[in-house]
Amino acid sequence: MQEASDCGCSSTASASLAPHGSIIAALVTGERGLMIGEIPEPGRPAPDEVQVRIRAVALNHIDVWGWRGMAFAKRNLPLVAGAEAAGDIVAVGEAVTDRSPGDIVALYGAKTCGTCPACLDGRDNFCETMDAIYGFHIDGFLRTAMNIPARLTVKAPDGLDAISAALAPITFGTVEHMFFDNAKLKSGETVLVHAGGSGIGTAAIQLAKAAGATVITTVGSDEKAVRAAELGADHVINYNQERFEGRVRKLTGRKGVDVVFEHVGPTTWGGSLLSLKRGGRLVTCGSTTGITAETNLNLLFQQQLRLIGSFGCTLANIRSALEKLGQGSVRPVIDTVIGIDDLEAGLNRLEQRQVFGKIVVTL
Ligand SMILES: [Zn+2]
Repeated sequence: MQEASDCGCSSTASASLAPHGSIIAALVTGERGLMIGEIPEPGRPAPDEVQVRIRAVALNHIDVWGWRGMAFAKRNLPLVAGAEAAGDIVAVGEAVTDRSPGDIVALYGAKTCGTCPACLDGRDNFCETMDAIYGFHIDGFLRTAMNIPARLTVKAPDGLDAISAALAPITFGTVEHMFFDNAKLKSGETVLVHAGGSGIGTAAIQLAKAAGATVITTVGSDEKAVRAAELGADHVINYNQERFEGRVRKLTGRKGVDVVFEHVGPTTWGGSLLSLKRGGRLVTCGSTTGITAETNLNLLFQQQLRLIGSFGCTLANIRSALEKLGQGSVRPVIDTVIGIDDLEAGLNRLEQRQVFGKIVVTL
């Protein structure tokens, strides 16, 4: 037995009993339960990992679902929240050659395997490891530091700040994937973007305009209408004042639009189908007003519509989004920047849609 020193510890004991360094994290503890607390700091990154000092985490509806508690989510609580983030690299594993301390990186939102056919083919969001969304199934990004495989980080262009980069993995990346990989949006086409004041709506208006499309968008207030027009929307419809599908048909000479950008669900679904032209494409990445909607099958086959589900994005979509943010062809629309202590208030506002653009937590 080792003799204790005056301070009550021996050199051996102090090495084994000393508390680990700790970092701050936001933890989901149960249904609508959140805790800001301390977790152990990460150790040295593994050979293929980098250590990131996380600077900015953008809030998304998936955070609201994760916080509300979704029956289908298999996960262990408490869980570190946060699904969309950027930060700067502070250390690299010994096998990492293409990242350096000081690099600002955006973080891919799912822990993919990197080895399945989909991953090898660059279709990252089709990875066979489906239950590994950061902040939803596994510990997420709302913590001051973490180790992550280097291949899941995407370097931001020089000069782009972490808050802007934090909007690339979900907000802009998801829209890139929906418009360009799935709906095959082309210059000269007309798009209907639902909820133009939402985070993803503000990205969709800008990415569609930058691609040369005409944009019709819906919003829920006159104040949001002004801001959506400032972002470049050609026509803005206040859905509380008129039926959007009627207005869309008038604006398009009764033809309808080429593409509908859906993420609202039951309250807009029927009208979205009626807004499409023959052969039009509807692409959806979410359903914030419920999960079941009726589809008029006559309309579906007679009008030869295409309904496309979209979830997440690829690393290539994030690279493209970062490039456009870096060039300034699109810009982040920030509702508010908040501290980690205001996370619950931020999630409440997002749930009630009292936002224009993104809420970003800085760390
Ligand atoms: Zn994979």
